[in-house]
Amino acid sequence: MRRYWKEALGWKSVGYHKVIEANGNIVQLAPDSAITNGVAGHNSTSLHVSYIGGKDTDDRNIQQRQAIAAVLLGWLQKYPKARICGHRDFPNVNKACPQFSAEKEYGYLYLLAGPKNDKPIINSD
Ligand SMILES: [Zn+2]
Repeated sequence: MRRYWKEALGWKSVGYHKVIEANGNIVQLAPDSAITNGVAGHNSTSLHVSYIGGKDTDDRNIQQRQAIAAVLLGWLQKYPKARICGHRDFPNVNKACPQFSAEKEYGYLYLLAGPKNDKPIINSD
């Protein structure tokens, strides 16, 4: 992935902060302080996690689902004003990924993260 981003796309940074492997292993590609290339136009104000798979269907396995939840919960605890969004949920982004509603599925994490977190805004779809 790193080679593809650098050589094929010419990016100076990686595409995501963290990626979830098929076995649920969380690989950190960049520190939170880095600007990665997850969502064009929003990279300086967002953190990005992706999982291996999911190009055309939501094929996350249970290990990946749990790993994504762990990453998001950690970020919500560190950044209480953060919102959970899928790539497709950002304005002016013409993408279908992920193949599920990120905030609908993981919105329960706002409650687990603590009282400082804003109330979730659940997208309707
Ligand atoms: Zn995407």
